[in-house]
Amino acid sequence: MKRILVTGGAGFIGSHLCTRLINEGHSVICLDNFFTGNRSNVWHLMPNPHFELVRHDVINPYIAEVDEIYNLACPASPIHYQHDAVKTVKTSVMGAINMLTLARQVGAKVLQASTSEVYGDPIVHPQTEVYWGNVNTIGIRSCYDEGKRCAETLFMDYYRQKRLIIKIIRIFNTYGPNMSMNDGRVISNFIVQALKNEDITLYGDGSQTRSFQYVDDLIEGMVRMMNTDDKFTGPVNIGNPNEFTIKQLAERIIELTGSKSRFIYKPLPSDDPRQRQPDISLAKEKLHWQPRVQLEEGLLSTIDYFKKII
Ligand code: NAD
Ligand code: UDP
Repeated sequence: MKRILVTGGAGFIGSHLCTRLINEGHSVICLDNFFTGNRSNVWHLMPNPHFELVRHDVINPYIAEVDEIYNLACPASPIHYQHDAVKTVKTSVMGAINMLTLARQVGAKVLQASTSEVYGDPIVHPQTEVYWGNVNTIGIRSCYDEGKRCAETLFMDYYRQKRLIIKIIRIFNTYGPNMSMNDGRVISNFIVQALKNEDITLYGDGSQTRSFQYVDDLIEGMVRMMNTDDKFTGPVNIGNPNEFTIKQLAERIIELTGSKSRFIYKPLPSDDPRQRQPDISLAKEKLHWQPRVQLEEGLLSTIDYFKKII
């Protein structure tokens, strides 16, 4: 049994990770300030004596005897990370420093949940880990993008300078149950709108592309990354290369829900990336990992989840 700390553990991805780690028989501390996460996401774990839920903000130091740290604490949807942009930068940067310091104090391995946003509005397509990105330093997405980029820098500097065992994964758009209904991300927005037969809000003309992975695939990749050889730091892309336009996504959701919703067009937010698709060759080689859940299967389970909570 390992003792594992998951920051941001009450959020969408964190709650699935906590469940997976508890099911594997580990002891888990789930640390969260509940800004975008919710106790209800981990409610089912509360009776387990090996699960502990702690209210804490990662911008403050934290100490606990643990073997592994998964650092996920950070709002991930544009409306949430832009709500208090300064706090978002602090969460990424100070949160990274605090978790790296903790890892050093107790000799733990630490994994950073980075993001495809480090590639910004990419000129190289699909994105490989060696691409440095095309990121605006002063735009409305910069608090998130640059915060995450700085966190990657800190992880690599602690690795080189302080000999820490670190892992960096770059997560591409992920969806599934436990997504918050009102965080403004495209899959939750479209499914909720479709189920309520409300207008589907396409930003821009809907021709921008994304590649969506189901959360179970991500969790598998994350755990595999944590268990790689100590010398392998990443960064490694974890995503589903199945790329399509946002309009195609909307059409698929209408079809699967049997909705009467119509499309309405709203302005494209500034710095919204035009295209995004992971190159997952490195994950295949190092983690022997690739996504397994197809879009239709993943969407149907997510639609079921939203039907229950609406
Ligand atoms: P989420 O908003 O559901 O979860 C984030 C969690 O972190 C929430 O529980 C929130 O309350 C907590 N949190 C935020 N600030 C905190 C702070 N200062 N101290 C303690 N806890 C704090 O988002 P998610 O989609 O589950 O994302 C989890 C991680 O994965 C984030 O780091 C995000 O950047 C990364 N990521 C997610 C995606 C995606 O598509 N979902 C893509 C790329 C990267
Ligand atoms: N989007 C949209 N309608 C919505 C929400 C989002 O057209 O109601 C678009 C958004 O402009 C972006 C894409 O869908 O191009 C993905 O948005 P999301 O916020 O989910 O993720 P990110 O932009 O961070 O990849």
